Amino acid sequence: MTLRNKTALVTGSTSGIGLGVANALAAEGANIMLNGFGDAEAIDQLVVDLAARHGVEVDYDGADLLRADGPGELVESTRARFGTLDVLVNNAGIQHVAPVESFPIERWDAIIALNLSAVFLSMRAAIPIMRAQGWGRIINVASAHGLVASANKVAYVAAKHGVLGATKVAALELANDAITVNAICPGWVLTPLVERQLEERAAAAGTELAAESDAMLAEKQPMRQFTSPEAIGALAVYLCSDAARTVTGTPISIDGGWVAQ
Ligand code: NAD
Repeated sequence: MTLRNKTALVTGSTSGIGLGVANALAAEGANIMLNGFGDAEAIDQLVVDLAARHGVEVDYDGADLLRADGPGELVESTRARFGTLDVLVNNAGIQHVAPVESFPIERWDAIIALNLSAVFLSMRAAIPIMRAQGWGRIINVASAHGLVASANKVAYVAAKHGVLGATKVAALELANDAITVNAICPGWVLTPLVERQLEERAAAAGTELAAESDAMLAEKQPMRQFTSPEAIGALAVYLCSDAARTVTGTPISIDGGWVAQ
């Protein structure tokens, strides 16, 4: 239990990767602030289940991180609820797929606001708290698309490259404050975000989901399997450990060989 009595805020943790990370950090004893959208009853159940499974305190704040005030308010409500904020995982993210020349401007604005600006704004709010405590871990969930591009994902790729830049800057500024800042760069992880892309692709090509899923993996990943949210959670736990205290300012790929090509 490496995180007993510590508090972790995981943005976008009502599903997918964020939920996997929240679960893994709770298993290490961290109290958890969940965030994200979804059915109110299902989220209440998630709070109860996570707390009971791991014997930790869990709460939920549905702050909309697209709003410029959202990330700062979420960080403050976490500190007010638990008294500390030790681990910040910036994970909330959205996607839109279209060529540059027809990419909707409002989708560009939303993806930059959530996938990039919210990462900056929550780090900005959390860093003074972590500095005062003398310890902290910031983990930004970027993507293989933080390191390489794919067609039709201009806003997402631009935002994720930006997240890597912001991660490096914060890591330099905090290098001697016992606060590390890193980015996790997953390849394909089967979550609602990817399921939506699969459904769109299958509808457009008139194929079955399973065939489209194989094609999607084959296009990008030498290793033809999805990474699990649990594996991303395990990587986050490692980054919070004492063994990882000198790992900072770095993108860590967990992508089935995607960017090795
Ligand atoms: P997901 O759709 O399952 O989860 C996204 C989470 O963000 C949900 O909890 C959702 O409610 C929340 N969210 C959406 N808009 C929000 C807002 N305005 N304010 C607060 N929360 C909001 O997606 P996922 O695949 O688990 O993605 C999580 C992160 O991982 C994203 O940053 C994504 O870019 C990144 N990522 C995913 C993959 C993949 O293959 N799934 C690969 C690389 C990186």
